[in-house]
Amino acid sequence: MKNTSDYHGYNLLRIRPIRSLVLWPVFPYIFQTIMLAVFISLAVIGWGHFAPKGVNGKLHAKSNIVNLMIWGLWWPSMVWLAVLFGRVWCMVCPLELVANGTERVGRRMGVRQRVLGRWLRSGALIVGIYALIQLLVAGIHLHRVPAYTSFFLWGLLGTAGLVGFLIKDRAFCRGFCPVGLLLGTYGRGGMLAVRAGSGQVCSSCTGKDCIMACNRTRFSGRSCPSLLNPPKLNSSRDCLVCGQCIKSCTPDNMQLVLRRPFHRADAREPLASWPATIFVMLVSGFVTGELCSEWSTAQAIFLWLPERFIDHFSLSAVGGWIEGVWMILVYPMVLWFVLGVLSSLGSRDASMIIKSWRLLALPLAVIISAGHMAKGLAKFVSWVGFLPSAVKDPPGIMTALEISSKAVPHPAPLLSISVVSLMGMALVAASMYFSLRESRLANPETYHQRLAPKLALAILFACIVFGWGYIK
Ligand code: SF4
Ligand code: SF4
Ligand code: SF4
Repeated sequence: MKNTSDYHGYNLLRIRPIRSLVLWPVFPYIFQTIMLAVFISLAVIGWGHFAPKGVNGKLHAKSNIVNLMIWGLWWPSMVWLAVLFGRVWCMVCPLELVANGTERVGRRMGVRQRVLGRWLRSGALIVGIYALIQLLVAGIHLHRVPAYTSFFLWGLLGTAGLVGFLIKDRAFCRGFCPVGLLLGTYGRGGMLAVRAGSGQVCSSCTGKDCIMACNRTRFSGRSCPSLLNPPKLNSSRDCLVCGQCIKSCTPDNMQLVLRRPFHRADAREPLASWPATIFVMLVSGFVTGELCSEWSTAQAIFLWLPERFIDHFSLSAVGGWIEGVWMILVYPMVLWFVLGVLSSLGSRDASMIIKSWRLLALPLAVIISAGHMAKGLAKFVSWVGFLPSAVKDPPGIMTALEISSKAVPHPAPLLSISVVSLMGMALVAASMYFSLRESRLANPETYHQRLAPKLALAILFACIVFGWGYIK
């Protein structure tokens, strides 16, 4: 008879070094500590650091080690890792470590820690925080100024610490982390997953150490700190791959599974929650804007209307903010109205347009994540060449001046834009397949009615990515 685990994929815990690593009592704390040291070092280096007059801001964004590491390398890598392997970043995340630490301190000090409320658990606040960050990127170039990036990092560390101190059970990850919804939405089809093996073993397990509340405050082998139910885990949306349930399971029935992307055995939500839907709508605008930024013609078209508005009302002082509002608010409303109409063709019920948004959100997130990966790749390959000079000259001012004056050449991208463009189109094509499949698995009866919006978004993204490499 086939073991339940055979339906899920290959259990990586069968590989002895991986098993020893995951069962090591200081896993994943040791990696989180290393990442915390990196985060703090970058926040210290960037503190109060602005590009002096005469230094090209865009160039300095790449040559400065803080911006380069956070926005040019870490952020695109995180998007790729999430789509391919689920929430693996969460495994080593320093913010979770800080929140975990202050949660323990608060408990020891006798603080009456609150339970995370339903509204916060829904992710509504995360949508707001993510929107605010995107506005700051457009409005003050958060991603180009080391001082702002440093402030951002300190803000994240401080908020994680405060939330952990006051609210229990991984509250920062579950209700506050700005990337929590992104990782949960992009990472649900990832190839790495924590799952229980045999259902029979779980049914006959009397200890239930993976769930028992009395184990939650242990250092290692905790019952799920995210309050998930490991024996019944059938989605990677909320699992941080922390391995605590694996260590706690005395019958050794929890597995770390490598499997096909978007595994059929996972649960699908036929209708996305409103926070998740609004989040996907918002990200669709951000990703379209980011894709257009690689091709001047597409960018001119994308920003044509907000720029006319800025010129007409002489609002150039707040032009970035207006473009930000266009990108994450106005354009997504227009786009999703069109997608909703395409999805409801033939229906006389106007409310179908709004309902279709919730039906479309998760399948379309697959295409949007592919667009995000394509943009991430373009950014990574063009920024990574600055790494050697950023290590030698962390503030990056000398490097930027030398490149501007042509004393040293601009670092060449790792891949040519035509190769990146081809890879991006392949990603979008693959995402179209998975998006349709997700739709069919979530709503087998009606999925065929929503083919047009997926096709429209995939074609839009593919055309823009094609333009990067093949249209001047
Ligand atoms: S949810 Fe956010 S804070 Fe929590 S581990 Fe993941 S990235 Fe870190
Ligand atoms: S401790 Fe292990 S065997 Fe027991 S219920 Fe949890 S996952 Fe199943
Ligand atoms: S299910 Fe296991 S791996 Fe996932 S968050 Fe809970 S304890 Fe960590």
